[in-house]
Amino acid sequence: MGLTARLRTRSEVMADNIFTKIIAKQIPAKIVYEDDRVLAFRDIKPEAPVHVLIVPKREITNVTEARAEDESLLGHLLAVAAEVARREGVVDTGYRLVINNGRDAGQAVAHLHVHLLGGRALGWPPG
Ligand code: AMP
Repeated sequence: MGLTARLRTRSEVMADNIFTKIIAKQIPAKIVYEDDRVLAFRDIKPEAPVHVLIVPKREITNVTEARAEDESLLGHLLAVAAEVARREGVVDTGYRLVINNGRDAGQAVAHLHVHLLGGRALGWPPG
């Protein structure tokens, strides 16, 4: 149990570095939108024809860890998601926004991110 917890923490820290490095432009990503608070880039392992991650530049682990002063940033993430959906041409056909929080949701990267999925019919409920 203790070992599992330690390994998970280490992997989360490493995964966190991936998005931090993308935001810092230290590793490449296919960026589709950027402003002073948010970066959006294509998922490296897309689960749909359109699969974009919308990420706050500020380091927030997940929704649970967001603070009161992050409220406008959280709203901005959704506004950017809608803008990316328009740019990607999936507004008329529809799209899904997903935020995985913690272990049972399968959150692999410990940096808050909104998945935007579209371009095909998406099953519900998720498995
Ligand atoms: P989650 O399971 O919600 O934490 O989603 C993490 C997502 O990040 C997965 O869909 C991965 O495919 C994606 N991902 C991991 N590394 C990269 C990367 N270097 N560039 C783009 N997407 C990535």
